[in-house]
Amino acid sequence: MSCHDIGRGMNAVVRRTITLFDRKEIALEPAKIIIASCANAVNWCDGNEYEAVDFISHCRCGKCLKLIPKGEKLYSIWDVTVPKQSSRDHWIFETKNKLELVTDGMCEECFDHYIPEVCDSDLDLEAMKRKIEEDGPDSVISEGKEREHNNGYIWGTDSYWYQR
Ligand SMILES: [Zn+2]
Repeated sequence: MSCHDIGRGMNAVVRRTITLFDRKEIALEPAKIIIASCANAVNWCDGNEYEAVDFISHCRCGKCLKLIPKGEKLYSIWDVTVPKQSSRDHWIFETKNKLELVTDGMCEECFDHYIPEVCDSDLDLEAMKRKIEEDGPDSVISEGKEREHNNGYIWGTDSYWYQR
């Protein structure tokens, strides 16, 4: 049994980080470092990284943090054709590190720009995108806004000074 509490706790910090980022009170790089740290912090218990970033993973790009409008493309790096010599898990870990991704999803602009850097040189990007869209149309479409719950639990009332 993994621990879901630590993921919810970290997801609350991700939510606050995004609030500051959207208000331009915090820049992209520090926002991403905090979010990535939240995802990694679930390892202080037997937590799940996807729960720590649930607030943004269905609607924002993990590279540029752009909010992707509802219905537009949000590609998962799990659907990328992995280079011939790599194991999938190792490639995902390396790619998230190399591209500095805070979630597994990418907007189409970032996907087009960065994915060729981490794939075989003979990659046909357009063909791969078509295959991803055909195989899993639900997994590549943005929900258009952040989740209104924390991994299924309602968010608490904002009453502390830092929540203003
Ligand atoms: Zn992007």
